[in-house]
Amino acid sequence: MQQPLVAREFAIQTDNMQQTLVLHVNPEQPEAAPIARAAAVLRAGGLVAFPTETVYGLGANALDDNAVRAIFRAKDRPAYDPLIVHLADAASLPSVVRVVPDAVRLLAVHFWPGPLTLVLPRNAAVPPSVTAAGDTVAVRIPSHPVALALIRAAGVPVAAPSANRFGRISPTCVEHVLADLQGRVDIILDGGPTPVGVESTVLSLVSSIPAILRPGGVSREALAAVLGEVDVHQLAITPEPESMQISPGTSSSHYAPRARLILYRGQKPALLQAMRAEADRLQSEGERVGVLAADEDAGYFAALRERQTSPVCFQPVGSEQCLTDVARRLYGALHALDQAGVTVILARDFGNAGLGLAVRDRLTRAAGGRVIQV
Ligand code: AMP
Ligand code: MG
Repeated sequence: MQQPLVAREFAIQTDNMQQTLVLHVNPEQPEAAPIARAAAVLRAGGLVAFPTETVYGLGANALDDNAVRAIFRAKDRPAYDPLIVHLADAASLPSVVRVVPDAVRLLAVHFWPGPLTLVLPRNAAVPPSVTAAGDTVAVRIPSHPVALALIRAAGVPVAAPSANRFGRISPTCVEHVLADLQGRVDIILDGGPTPVGVESTVLSLVSSIPAILRPGGVSREALAAVLGEVDVHQLAITPEPESMQISPGTSSSHYAPRARLILYRGQKPALLQAMRAEADRLQSEGERVGVLAADEDAGYFAALRERQTSPVCFQPVGSEQCLTDVARRLYGALHALDQAGVTVILARDFGNAGLGLAVRDRLTRAAGGRVIQV
């Protein structure tokens, strides 16, 4: 029987590592052949990077301790940072979760499949490597057709953190995954750019009041509308030891570009004026300055962009009226600024409404404490 045609397939060989096979998949209707091949790799204990609606994930069989450890090695991720387990449906929850609180059913109806991760009591079948030896496990059901097809075909829960090296920017397209993990994973499924662009919202259901440990693709407002009361874990603006934290991925050094990033918070136009003055000053000191702002902010930086010597590199992330666009384009913009070789990035805040909170959270962490209130 003839195999369905796979649009592009190539293997990348690096000196000291294994081959990485990149398989193209249709993001809406994934072809059976690449999914079956990737699922077989997962069942055999290998690593598969795949698109989810949030960012690309680096997956392994969550019930195979060796496979899970391979994720940590590939990412250079410290063992104290737990992974999210991805399931194909809520009926599979008992395979990784000890008790399913009533709130899960309610949240599942509204937000699953989708970018909501729930922290729940761990089932004994889940190896401690997944949960950083903790008694809770983070689970979600992704909505991306490729992710769902892969998990279904593998027939196992799939542990998958973002497919980037530890502490770096999460990948929203296959080029980002290759830049960080080429030669470190067996297969990458290329399903094009990811639609949400920031990671899932992590909601703890083991505290007395449900608590957002990490803002993400499902907004605080949407959760509050369903649950009534929701706590928000405060952003760690000052770096603190990872081991002291409730949710390790909330370290302030996460999601960082190579360039030094400074986050500006406050009202327009003072916000943009302060950024422009600082860009001007840094430029005159010989820095290569990148600016991350809204489409409509471009005019403020026009003169600095037209300079003969090291002009400001302006990266728009969409209109400030459309925060889903801003979230979707955020990591791509940070990657592009790194690629452009800027030494410093001045980024503006987009408020805390809707996805603005997740954008603020990631930019605050990328800034590692360098936040200027205008
Ligand atoms: P990543 O998928 O790379 O964004 O990483 C998963 C993140 O989910 C971790 O860094 C934590 O922030 C969070 N997480 C995973 N498991 C747990 C857990 N059991 N309790 C609290 N947070 C968790
Ligand atoms: Mg991550």
